[in-house]
Amino acid sequence: MAKAFSQEFINLQKKRLEEDLKDLLAKIEELKKEDPFLDPDHASDNAAVDTDVREQVGHETVEAQIKDLNYRVSEIKAALLRINKGKYGICLKCAKPIPKARLEVIPESAYCIDCEKKLRS
Ligand SMILES: [Zn+2]
Repeated sequence: MAKAFSQEFINLQKKRLEEDLKDLLAKIEELKKEDPFLDPDHASDNAAVDTDVREQVGHETVEAQIKDLNYRVSEIKAALLRINKGKYGICLKCAKPIPKARLEVIPESAYCIDCEKKLRS
């Protein structure tokens, strides 16, 4: 079977994915520090109710952001795994090669545009 992509392209994508992964993990660490619930003073302070509400909202926002980032981390890890298996850039649903232009925009793409549309609808 002929390879859908050149090794050069795959190496480049791998590098991008690894860099994205590093950035995402660093961002998650940063966000965790911002979480007011992790503030060591939090448990002991006698803050007014409005402060508590603000901390609650801050905590939920940070949690939602971390959840989004973790989702991308898992997508990127899955893409790196596909590179190792020699299956990178092949749509998981229809097994057709994903257009290069799409992979350049979203290196962790697991589906071609058609299948992605079907999955989302
Ligand atoms: Zn497909």
